[in-house]
Amino acid sequence: MKQRNLRTDRSPAVNLNLNVRGMRPSATVAINEHSNALIAQGREVFKLGLGQSPFPVPDAVTKELQVNAFQKDYLPVKGLLVLRQAVADYHRRTQGTPFSADDVLIGPGSKELMFLLQLVYYGDLVIPAPAWVSYAPQARIIGRQVRFMSTRREDQWKLMPAQLEALCAPDPERPRIVILNYPSNPTGGTYSSAELKELAAVARKYRVILLSDEIYGELHHKGQHVSLARFYPEGTIVSAGLSKWCGAGGWRLGTFAFPHTLGWLRDAMAAVASETFTSTSAPIQYAAVRAFQGGLDIERYLVHSRRILKHLGRWCAKTLGEAGVQVAKPEGGFYLFPDFEPLRARLEARGIHSGAQLCLQMLDEVGVAMLPGEDFGRPAEELTARLAYVDFDGAKALFASTQVPLEEPLPDTFLDAQCYNCTEAIRRVASWLGE
Ligand code: GLU
Repeated sequence: MKQRNLRTDRSPAVNLNLNVRGMRPSATVAINEHSNALIAQGREVFKLGLGQSPFPVPDAVTKELQVNAFQKDYLPVKGLLVLRQAVADYHRRTQGTPFSADDVLIGPGSKELMFLLQLVYYGDLVIPAPAWVSYAPQARIIGRQVRFMSTRREDQWKLMPAQLEALCAPDPERPRIVILNYPSNPTGGTYSSAELKELAAVARKYRVILLSDEIYGELHHKGQHVSLARFYPEGTIVSAGLSKWCGAGGWRLGTFAFPHTLGWLRDAMAAVASETFTSTSAPIQYAAVRAFQGGLDIERYLVHSRRILKHLGRWCAKTLGEAGVQVAKPEGGFYLFPDFEPLRARLEARGIHSGAQLCLQMLDEVGVAMLPGEDFGRPAEELTARLAYVDFDGAKALFASTQVPLEEPLPDTFLDAQCYNCTEAIRRVASWLGE
């Protein structure tokens, strides 16, 4: 009798877990690979798609990695104790939040830690939209309910306390994780202390777990980031890492800091981690200690990084604004979330009716890669997009910034000299819109 082979006698897709059927690679990863493929074919592409820091890892941290290349043993699943202590000290030093080493969990990128959190916690995932591309897909993979809270451009795309109240009030006991990410990916906006206090009050009332994704905190353009954990210490998990402020996305190191009361969540995540990735790369953890310990050299690096990003972000927003696009002045990180709605008639005449069509045509005709608002949880027909103003040589730009005294503004020529791919990309978009 002929053997039945379940793997080959049906379409292979049938054997996929229902939650991942039809899933495609994450939009941020896909746009980067697509842009690189176009460049390999000889096309000119301005890479404003993937949000990768343009700056090099600070020298002292790279040196520490070199020195620790020999570290070959598996490390404790929750992370190297000296690193957990350095992360706790960092939070205490920068925000006054009283975490101890015991409260910290180290992982191979905060993305993985977010996934683990959703896996071990049984509750809905609540996300303001627009939000970073991977929060919702992670929840779907695990089979959690996702509740989007649509924010408004008039509110600078921020979550309003009344929205959170309206979501929680009808079912007050329901377990929920609310993710707040600021400075924001994708909008570049951030929350003031007063706004955070109001959100914290609602979160406390309904005992929601707030995952405060503060991975861009150190890139607040004025260096004035405020952590939500200051106002809701008992319910806030602070997510951070090396990827953005330390230029080390590819090193894959993320950190979670838990309130004492949520130690059971940290331990459950560590148990799953022990069955999956075992521990985070040893040399990277040793090097990360130096990054979180900080010091004058790192502070100097951050001051210049922020200065460049602030100058460039404002210029990009202003130039797009002059071309008729609605876009807020960024306050942190390296993203803008332009809304092309005021130009809808003109774009529709070119066959563009959605953010996705807009981004496709922009890549095709102008060579500028961006991602549509739809990837960030916005309606498909909305003409929004996210751009990452990171396509420049950060090492060269940092050096040039150190040559200009901090009391003086960066000269007008700075951006074209140091961040040409970004300024040229924005100019081309602006002139394409005007055609
Ligand atoms: N966070 C970055 C972005 O939004 C890239 C890394 C990622 O998505 O995994 O573009």
